[in-house]
Amino acid sequence: MGLPLHAVSALDLTSCCTCGIEFAVPQHWLQKKRENGQGFHCPNGHNLSYGESEVQRLQKALAQEKVKTETAQRDARWQKEERERMEKAAAKAEKRQKAAKTRLKNLQARVSKGYCPCCKQNFPEVYAHIVNEHPKYAAENPEVVSAGVKGLLPVNGGAR
Ligand SMILES: [Zn+2]
Ligand SMILES: [Zn+2]
Repeated sequence: MGLPLHAVSALDLTSCCTCGIEFAVPQHWLQKKRENGQGFHCPNGHNLSYGESEVQRLQKALAQEKVKTETAQRDARWQKEERERMEKAAAKAEKRQKAAKTRLKNLQARVSKGYCPCCKQNFPEVYAHIVNEHPKYAAENPEVVSAGVKGLLPVNGGAR
């Protein structure tokens, strides 16, 4: 109380932007408030705060922007990779489908000439043969077996 101010500690004069009162606070204390942006009160109880400095605010915004950009880039990259993966998978599936179709066509062609895919032999009435001898196969591969119907037609009848 009786000591002159300079004997206590280095003080900074600051003022309240609301009521205008001037008051002194320890320099290191004020410095800390500046750094951490913590609020304090003027002697009249007004809330004071240095908040974020403009530079801090801009740096923060910039950092956030950077993170956003990086995230967007990552997402874009990921989406591109995902698209490529899907395109590749689709191409593969198409290839597989085409191959399967070709295989089926070849098989149908052979079956239509009397070939039994189960016995790997030719039969004059292959459709009836497959249905009778291999009912499970006939049920599972109707598109193959139905090709054998043509084997019953006169035009292919002697084709075996
Ligand atoms: Zn005040
Ligand atoms: Zn057979």
